[in-house]
Amino acid sequence: MNADLLVVGSGFFGLTVAERLAEELGLRVQVIDRRPHIGGNAYSEDEPTTGIEVHRYGAHLFHTSNERVWEYANRFTAFTDYVHRVYTRHDGEVFPMPINLGTINQFFRAAYGPEEAKALIREQAGELAGTDPQNLNDKGIQLIGRPLYEAFIKHYTAKQWQTDPMDLPAAVISRLPVRYTYDNRYFNDTHEGLPVDGYTAWLERMADHPRIEVALDTDFFDDAHAFSRSKVLGQLPVVYTGPVDRYFDFAEGELGWRTLDFEQEVLQVGDFQGTPVMNYADDDVAFTRIHEFRHFHPERDYPTDKTVIMREFSRFAESGDEPYYPVNTAHDRERLLKYRDLAKGERDVLFGGRLGTYKYLDMHMAIGAALSMVDNKLVPALRAGSTLESGGVDE
Ligand code: FAD
Ligand code: UDP
Repeated sequence: MNADLLVVGSGFFGLTVAERLAEELGLRVQVIDRRPHIGGNAYSEDEPTTGIEVHRYGAHLFHTSNERVWEYANRFTAFTDYVHRVYTRHDGEVFPMPINLGTINQFFRAAYGPEEAKALIREQAGELAGTDPQNLNDKGIQLIGRPLYEAFIKHYTAKQWQTDPMDLPAAVISRLPVRYTYDNRYFNDTHEGLPVDGYTAWLERMADHPRIEVALDTDFFDDAHAFSRSKVLGQLPVVYTGPVDRYFDFAEGELGWRTLDFEQEVLQVGDFQGTPVMNYADDDVAFTRIHEFRHFHPERDYPTDKTVIMREFSRFAESGDEPYYPVNTAHDRERLLKYRDLAKGERDVLFGGRLGTYKYLDMHMAIGAALSMVDNKLVPALRAGSTLESGGVDE
């Protein structure tokens, strides 16, 4: 076989591993992906009739406070100065998200200062104020009090997760800041921006290396090609970024995922909603949000009489659907522990990325985790010319 290592999956995790090993260790890396394009879920393409860049698997906003990841990303692309802001519709009105002093004052028709607003929320959080709740429902009420929780979180979360918020981990909502200022930036990170010439150009530059080969439409579990599981195991070290339960033929049962359905439309207007993302907080509309892609790149020369919008619907993934977000119920976590044990026994295979570790990872986290796997596991083992002694799921 004409390669030193196989990477299954060409998302940010797989491409970071491939690029580092090809460049730093001079290894020949074969990357395979079952999709017809590289880049995993960050892939984007221009809508053909308007030229507007559409993120094929949902809107992707790059943000990080990790200096190493930021420096690494900047080797392959420059970033625009885009700053993400989101609005949400509730009961016929539009409010700024995440919840900030502007949202609170608009909701209560008031003019509270920060301290007054904090006192009010504390009172409305009732018995949960000052506690350390473990589920999304209690965490949400503790953070913003019951009235705001019921208006902006309860139905949106029910639409997005179709799981009782009592059964969802508190961490899901902890991602969303609550601010007692008028700052309505969505992310808190030091660095933020969108790749100047698009995600796909960035991803292609990562793969563009004389020692990296990419084979598309190539499924690791399909025996019809030279890089299938049955032909490669025991022959080449493997970094696997596909679903961990699929790798073990679902021996411990299927892990729960949410998937998304996207409904894309080209409208004959220059501007549909005046902002990139509008959330729909109420249960009278089935979708969770509408993305309008032109607003991600105000610096570009897009047509002024057409726009592209995408409505996002969320549901449980069934077999054959794209797995997007780990649901992570207590039951899922039990199964995951069993898969981690199985993975530890798998010689010469490392599991990484969002699907391989069953963890929600932002792009910067996927890149950061891949850089750590290269430093801590791959380089020491491969430089010594040995095999990957201990496999396992990157935790
Ligand atoms: P992926 O990108 O999923 O790549 C895995 C690859 O493995 C895929 O290309 C898949 O086809 C391939 N594969 C799987 N099984 C096989 C197999 N059997 N054989 C061959 N290939 C296989 N992150 C942010 O930072 N900001 C955002 O705004 C943001 N928005 C998001 C919105 C949505 C809707 C989703 C789902 C994710 C979002 N993310 C965002 C997260 C981002 O997509 C992930 O961080 C990133 O995709 C992780 O990269 P990865 O390589 O781990 O996984
Ligand atoms: N959320 C909500 N209302 C909103 C936005 C977010 O209830 O208007 C909750 C919801 O449970 C969601 C979580 O906060 O899953 C995290 O939001 P984020 O925008 O990070 O979700 P993503 O963009 O990853 O889907």
